[in-house]
Amino acid sequence: MTPLEEAQAAIWRAIRPVQERETVALEQALGRFLAEPLAARVDHPGFDNSMMDGYAVNAAEARAHDFVLPVVGESSCGSAPRALAPGTAMRIYTGAPLPAGADTVVIQEDVRLEDGRVHLPRTLAAGENVRYRGEDYRAGEALYAPGRRLTALDIALLASAGIEAVSVYRRPRVLVAATGNELAPPGRALAPGQIYESNRLALALQLRALGADVEDGGIVRDELAALDALLARAEDYDFIVTSGGASVGDYDLVRQAFSRRGTLTLWKVRIKPGKPLAFGRMGARTHFFVLPGNPVSSVVTYKLIVEPALHVWHHAQPVQWQLRARATAGFRRTPGRTEFLRARLTEDAGRLLAEPLAGQGSHMLGALRYTNGFIRVEADSAGFAAGEEVLVLPLAF
Ligand code: AMP
Ligand code: MG
Repeated sequence: MTPLEEAQAAIWRAIRPVQERETVALEQALGRFLAEPLAARVDHPGFDNSMMDGYAVNAAEARAHDFVLPVVGESSCGSAPRALAPGTAMRIYTGAPLPAGADTVVIQEDVRLEDGRVHLPRTLAAGENVRYRGEDYRAGEALYAPGRRLTALDIALLASAGIEAVSVYRRPRVLVAATGNELAPPGRALAPGQIYESNRLALALQLRALGADVEDGGIVRDELAALDALLARAEDYDFIVTSGGASVGDYDLVRQAFSRRGTLTLWKVRIKPGKPLAFGRMGARTHFFVLPGNPVSSVVTYKLIVEPALHVWHHAQPVQWQLRARATAGFRRTPGRTEFLRARLTEDAGRLLAEPLAGQGSHMLGALRYTNGFIRVEADSAGFAAGEEVLVLPLAF
């Protein structure tokens, strides 16, 4: 059995990263992975300007005129002001260009206006309330490297830098299927021995959230011919993700199906849940994952194995935060595999708490309704006591 980190590293090495790119408008770039380095096209700020509504002055002249100056002219947003006439103040608004000759803005709350003259505070300091050209970033400055997954914040920054479209890697085409003769789609009456199928949706929706173009391969029977028919379309996909049939009982069937058309490497990964898991490649572009069928195992292995692999395919660093939290209850076990417990993470006065949930069986979905993270129990650990510090992997909050 391969330890988790070793299995991850081996899979990441075997990934053939995407090369094809496409150009998309910023509006379409959310969640996409950059395929080019991006540099600013303009200085930001683009010109010296005012941080506040107030009066633009030259500090030395204000002092020379005993802090009383006539107001001459105005600088408003979106137009270029005339130069500041010596010995005067100019009305100015937030974001408006600082006129030539001015070096300071006095906020309007701090002045008294009388007969067209401003009385300035004697405490004014040269340079206050001015935003300087290029103090945020400069034209030509590198902003992003390839592989970066763009957030809404990144897109706002890119817009400010004058960039209207970006080159991103194309979306991965992913085929998702569930295998098992017992599986029925929700909405149908269950025949004896049948259960409702849930893994396909969990996988497809998480993959879509990561930007994948997902196709539904349906529910496939545990029959070689049915599995083979699924794989016949393999070359149209970058990834095939199936669940079920990876454990010893029926694993041979899946292995036969996959090894007819590709090279399968079984990673019996030393994790709980999720030990039976296979990964391999087919043809020039297709990667496949055979995840365990138990719903919780498929959720955990998706998070630990599939999602990071998709990042690598996009030339990105896989991100998996592991944070320290205090356990609100204890958990005991026999050491062996690295275990991931479904947990409810909460916050108490800035401290992260982790509650190991009841119902940890890998077939038990009930606890998922409270799950927003996993507690990681190291392979050689016998568990933890209430109040002890544990490592957690946060999911969405
Ligand atoms: P398997 O990995 O095929 O041996 O399945 C392990 C367990 O997970 C069995 O109890 C299956 O009935 C169940 N199972 C397999 N696939 C799914 C699925 N797509 N949705 C829900 N349960 C599943
Ligand atoms: Mg099965």
